Amino acid sequence: MTTANILLVEDEPAIQELLAFNVAQCGFRAIQAYDVPSALAEINRALPDLILLDWMLPGASGIEMARRLRADQRTRDIPIIMLTARTDERDKILGLESGADDYITKPFSPRELMARIRAVLRRRAPQMSEETVRVEGLELSPTTHRVSANGSNIDLGPTEFRLLHFFMTHVERVYSRAQLLDQVWGDHVFVEERTVDVHIRRLRQALEPSGKDALVQTVRGSGYRFSRE
Ligand code: CA
Repeated sequence: MTTANILLVEDEPAIQELLAFNVAQCGFRAIQAYDVPSALAEINRALPDLILLDWMLPGASGIEMARRLRADQRTRDIPIIMLTARTDERDKILGLESGADDYITKPFSPRELMARIRAVLRRRAPQMSEETVRVEGLELSPTTHRVSANGSNIDLGPTEFRLLHFFMTHVERVYSRAQLLDQVWGDHVFVEERTVDVHIRRLRQALEPSGKDALVQTVRGSGYRFSRE
């Protein structure tokens, strides 16, 4: 299974450590940032699968950071859960309007926090879920790492598996090579875009005997799309 990377943006060391501990206990990878500039540097390096964002941070606030991420095409789809000590209803509305997917008030119970992380990931990052995906006779199981087409097994390398999982959970949308590097490789800086083409070719070759390779479509000048048409 793919491990979700959770970026923790929190300036209070005790809470930061509590978050990191709980996130790791649940099998996620914690990336720690104590302020907005270092959080943005982490995001620039690799897109996290979810951000736990504290409202009150030194310098720029969590609200400002959420707005900034939502305004940028590269980062606008990253799920965000706001963390705050405030319980005011107006603040909650402001937090959600800034683009947060959910909202947690401190002090929080670790169980509640993890339940919310899982719920947001299920809704916003289906490629991180362990649920079996079925599209057009293709079946992919994240837990057993198996792929089959109309019942017969297909052997895939780990990268092709992740690529197919991403495609099957994002049907009909066009992704540029840079977006696929961000989403599937988690690295848009150090991996060459050509790499995407290599793995697309391998994926198509693996799907070819079943005729499912036609689902992986090249969109000229834009990138790739996984489509039923
Ligand atoms: Ca704080």
